[in-house]
Amino acid sequence: MTQRIVTVGLGLIGASFTSALKKTDFSGHITAVVRNAATGQEAVDLGLVDTYSTDVASAVQTADVVMLAVPMLAMEQQLNAMAATLPDTAIVTDVGSVKQPFAEQALAALSHPERIVPAHPIAGSEKSGMRAANSALFENRRVIVTPLEQSADRHIATVKALWEKVGAVVEELAIDHHDRVLAHTSHVPHVLAFALVDALAKQQEVEEIFRYAAGGFRDFSRIASSDPVMWSDICRTNPTAILESLDQFSHHLQQIRSAIETGDGDTLERTFERARTARNTYSDVQS
Ligand code: NAP
Repeated sequence: MTQRIVTVGLGLIGASFTSALKKTDFSGHITAVVRNAATGQEAVDLGLVDTYSTDVASAVQTADVVMLAVPMLAMEQQLNAMAATLPDTAIVTDVGSVKQPFAEQALAALSHPERIVPAHPIAGSEKSGMRAANSALFENRRVIVTPLEQSADRHIATVKALWEKVGAVVEELAIDHHDRVLAHTSHVPHVLAFALVDALAKQQEVEEIFRYAAGGFRDFSRIASSDPVMWSDICRTNPTAILESLDQFSHHLQQIRSAIETGDGDTLERTFERARTARNTYSDVQS
């Protein structure tokens, strides 16, 4: 049974997970690895974790499960830092938004591939940091577990059970499939929101544009408030799938542009109707 959990990183996702677990009947011990002792002490005071450490190598020594919840480009350093002291019995999982890099880095750093079980909660927000933690964040939200070929069934089951305990609905996908699907449904929409808001912000009438921004703009641009480091890391770690999706989208946008230019109302209506039908049909799909 999982008794000792170590989360490496205690931002929005790490702290939401620990606070959610604390609200269940989980009777084990949760330690957070943080960069800053003041953050760790605050997390203990807030009841988000039992203890904290600023030293990943010593923190993992007694872990049953280690969960990495740091930005994508910080994962490798943490894996290397824990490799020498990680017990042979510990399961290592993560919450990263792109799965291939974590899988490769974990395989290179750690000696028990059967104990590596990558995962990705499809839940979050444009907020970041421990203070944005929300113990209900994962309730009825999907968590995608992307096992390695070598991941043992019983360790996959342990990771799934932890997510189910905090209310998530767990599904499995192959790693490359996950990274392609998420490029379409999450990574490219964020790139588009950043691009649109940045382009508008560069215009001379910027204040007017934002003053008269209607609901549609607010809805579409909300995710441009997301953490720039996190999204830069995601773009840098999933470039092939993101570029493929962006190219498809650019082609489609060009067709819409032509229809607007030529006043082709049929094409515009058909396009918007298809989009509306798809959106309404799949409106329960989480992005
Ligand atoms: P966050 O709120 O910004 O928290 C990041 C955490 O990592 C903080 O504890 C931060 O410590 C720590 N950290 C940052 N840079 C680090 C470094 N170089 N070395 C060690 N620790 C570092 O981010 P988050 O939203 O929880 O995201 C964490 C992971 O979850 C990312 O891999 C992201 O792709 C994934 N994810 C995010 C979402 C989302 O919507 N936010 C959803 C699903 C998955 P400090 O407090 O000291 O800065």
